[in-house]
This record gives sequence, structure tokens and C-alpha cells, in this order.
Amino acid sequence: MADVPKPEELIRKIDTTPPKTRWEDIPADFSEGKFCYPTKIKNLEYLDLPRPEREWSPADEEWPLPDNWQEIIYEGFKERLEKYRSLKVFMDICVRCGACADKCHFFIGTGDPKNMPVLRAELLRSVYRKDFTTAGKILGKIAGARKLTPAVIKEWFSYFYQCTECRRCSVFCPYGIDTAEITMMGRELLSLLGLNINWILEPAANCFRTGNHLGIQPHAFKDMIEFFCDDIEEITGIRINPSFNRKGAEVLFITPSGDVFADPGTYTMMGYLLLFEHIGLDYTLSTYASEGGNFGLFTSADMVKRLNSKMYLEAKRLGVKWILGGECGHMWRVINQYMDTLNGPADFLEVPVSPITGTRFENAASTKMVHIMEFTADLIKHNKLKLDPSRNDKHIVTFHDSCNPSRGMGLLEEPRYVIKNVCNNFYEMPENTIREQTFCCGSGAGLNTEEIMELRMRGGLPRANAVKYVHEKFGVNMLACICAIDRAALPPLMDYWVPGVGVTGVHELVGNALVMDGEKERTCDLRFEPLNDETPEENEGEADE
Ligand code: SF4
Ligand code: SF4
Repeated sequence: MADVPKPEELIRKIDTTPPKTRWEDIPADFSEGKFCYPTKIKNLEYLDLPRPEREWSPADEEWPLPDNWQEIIYEGFKERLEKYRSLKVFMDICVRCGACADKCHFFIGTGDPKNMPVLRAELLRSVYRKDFTTAGKILGKIAGARKLTPAVIKEWFSYFYQCTECRRCSVFCPYGIDTAEITMMGRELLSLLGLNINWILEPAANCFRTGNHLGIQPHAFKDMIEFFCDDIEEITGIRINPSFNRKGAEVLFITPSGDVFADPGTYTMMGYLLLFEHIGLDYTLSTYASEGGNFGLFTSADMVKRLNSKMYLEAKRLGVKWILGGECGHMWRVINQYMDTLNGPADFLEVPVSPITGTRFENAASTKMVHIMEFTADLIKHNKLKLDPSRNDKHIVTFHDSCNPSRGMGLLEEPRYVIKNVCNNFYEMPENTIREQTFCCGSGAGLNTEEIMELRMRGGLPRANAVKYVHEKFGVNMLACICAIDRAALPPLMDYWVPGVGVTGVHELVGNALVMDGEKERTCDLRFEPLNDETPEENEGEADE
């Protein structure tokens, strides 16, 4: 891993001076730290995906492209233009107004013009013009067309893996062009040549092998959950005994495996377990569908479909009524935006109804899957939870809207509603950095990998900057989020740009605040840290209501 410069040095290195050379003539930079490592061939073989003839590195001069690589791309592009009307529209209608140009966190953090969404899309669009438009075929360069060469493939690999598919740019485009979808198509085309990154496809392969991204075996998954139950018993005096693979349970609960195997997600998992015990939910966990995340979204529509079907096959096998899903980002984009088209509605399950409040989740009538934030907000709204928000008083909280739940499913109010009911100190970041306009963590869509740490710190700069603002103004010391990738990506980002700010899942805060029947006096939170060892300092503003 290349060294990451100190924050002040990195800021100085952001150069927005327009290059003197035309963009087409600037080759992609594959020096150390500037690229994600390619997928190991064993993972491609496992997933039955096209593979290059040898292990390779993007730093290699010669990439192992198949002999007919141009034909493969042409046919793949043609097929996708016919299949996805959105792609055809996005290729044709950009007027190059530039409204999206400065909205991408990677452009803000790098100053690289090819990280402007309009130019990122142009990497693909220029080839589209050459091969699929009359003007491009006849006029070539004058019509903005360019020939597909190995250098173009290298450029695609570099810049489609410098996009977190966050869709912030699309919010500002007057035509609604979704550059994330263009990136997805670019990655699909690269995948046809066997060019993918390992940080995406190794977890995908693991998912098929053992059920989750980390490749953890079913018994280890069960052991981890039971270990959390031991901790919960030590903290609260309450013993929880969740069931695994239990046929006939009402609800199947699925969460990203990051909540089971990586801090601080593990504390979020403890929060879920406490919540379900508190309300007496009839649920089960699955050691086979032990992953809510779907890295297919960062690879291809086919892979999305294959991975998504796994959760539903398990729901069918266990005979549950519906699925409750944990705090995840991209899993919900798949469920809300793509599942109906790719897998079809899950008609063999029931429209979810909360057994506690009777609320029928019509928004999940087709997918049969409810987001835990909707579920918990509904419980609070119906006064079904006994809460002591003062147990979170040492936290001065702000909320990071994860890109997928906010822009992909409009989940804006529920997390705020829950946080304000379980915490007394909550402050919003500036309005152009939250809700639909939220800034990405800088590491989504499969880019949460160590080898590009500098790029991640650059891409996360706008988010961190907004946190810094509320940290300095209101003393914010805790960043809450509802995405497992965020829970992994934001701690190093905070340590780098805003030391002193921790990261938490919302259900960790819920778990702290829940007053369980028969519990012993709590002296520590779910992290075994003392409750309220600090009193919030006086600050400039009132907490947000
Ligand atoms: S805002 Fe939309 S139309 Fe304007 S340059 Fe960007 S993608 Fe093209
Ligand atoms: S989707 Fe996000 S990362 Fe990709 S170009 Fe748009 S703003 Fe940048």
C-alpha cells in the first residue's frame, strides 16, 4: 500500500488547474496506490466469469486482452443498448451543461477532470458515438467520437473504479442522467474481458461458497451471534437465545455480514438482538443467507440477480412470511430499484405486517422485505418501545445519509426519527451535504480497499468536511449511519480528517437506550464503555428537534 500524505499535504495536492493537453491524450495513471488490484483468477473461475489468460496487474504495459476483445466490447455494448433503454437515453441526451461537474466527491477530492461525472460518462459515450451513431461514424473526432483502443480500456478501468455509483451527480443533472448507471455498464463491459477488481469479486465468490462476503462458515456465524448474546447478558443481565434456520418462524432477519464480523457493526447487531427480544419478535437467522450485501451491484446485473435470489430461496425454504433487513446501503438499492425487474416479485411471501403494531408495509408489497429503520420507527411511533435516551448522552450525534437508502429508496425521515428518540443530542450537517444531496463516504461500490487509501481519503473529503463543521460548531463526536460499508469506511475517514469523531450504527444507539424487562442496572454501553462519562460541552446551538 502506498503511503497516504498528511491531510494538509493532501489538500495542497488537489490541483484543479485545467490540463493543457486534450483529455483524450492523457493516459490513465497506474502508479502504486492509484488502482484497485484485479480479481484473482480463482475467483473468476468460481463465479464462472470470463477470465484473462494470466494473472495481471494494471501497472503492466500489456494487458492480457483476448484476441477478439474489440468485438466482445462491441457486441456487449450493442446488447446493453438494446436491453436498457436508460443507457441509450443517457448516451444521447447529455447537453454538456456542466451542472454535474463539481458535484462528484472524487472530482472535489482529486481535481482530476475525468472525475467530473460528465467526463466520466464521456469515456464511454465517445466510443458509443463512434460505433453506434451516424454522425460519429462519418465525422469521427469532430462529432466527439473516438476509436476503442487498449488505452481506452485502461482509462475505463481507472475511472469506472473511481466512481462509487453514489448518484449524487444525477440529483443535479437537469435531464436526470444517472452516471452511476453508466459506470455500472462500463464495469460490465470490462468484466466481459475478465477485467474486474478482487475486492468485489472475492466477497461475491465467498457468498456463493459459504453464504457471506468473508467466507465464514455457518458454525462460525452462529458462534459469533452467540458470543454477542454472552456480551449482552454481561451488560444487561438478559439472556437472548436467537434461533437459526428455524422453519416456520414469522420473519427471516438478514443483515450484512459486516454487522456480524466487524466493529462497529457488531454493536449494531447487538442492538438488533436486544430490540427483537424487547418486542418478542418471532424471527430466525439463517446461516446460509448470512449476507444481506450484494456485490453483484458493483459487477453486473446477472450477478445482482444471482446473489439476490439467495435470500429469497432461503425465505421460501424456511417458510417465513416476510424478510426484515438490517442496516445496509446497496442491499436496499438492489431490493428497491432492481429486484422486481431482475428477479420478479416475491409472490410466495406475504405483504409484511408488523406483528407488534399491525402496520402493513405497502411499500414492500412486492419485495416483501422491510428495512429495519422503517420497522423500528413504526414501533416508536406506536409507543411500543421503552427507551431511556439519556444513556446515549455522552454522544453528540450527527447523521450521515448513506447514498443508497437516501437516493435509492428515499429513507430520509425514519433514521432521524429513531435517532431523536434514542438520543438527546443531535445536530444536522449543512443541508447541501445531507438527505438527497448527501456526500458519499468515498469508499462505496467496492472501493473500500486498502490499496487505494489516498483516493478514498480524497473521495471522502466533502463528507468529512461537513462532519468537521458540526464537530467544531456543536462538539459532534459521533457519526451515525445505516450502512455496513459506511461503518467500515467512515472510521478511517474520521481518524484521518476529523479525529475525535466515532462511528455508530443507529441500532447500536437503540440498543443502548432500550430498557429491557428485568434488566440489571446498566453501567456500560454495548461497547463495554462507561455510560455518560462525559457531559456535552456548552455549544453554540440548540439540538435539532
Ligand atoms: S448535468 Fe447532465 S446534461 Fe449536464 S453535463 Fe452533466 S450529465 Fe450532461
Ligand atoms: S455516481 Fe457519484 S461517484 Fe459516480 S460520477 Fe456521480 S457523483 Fe461521482
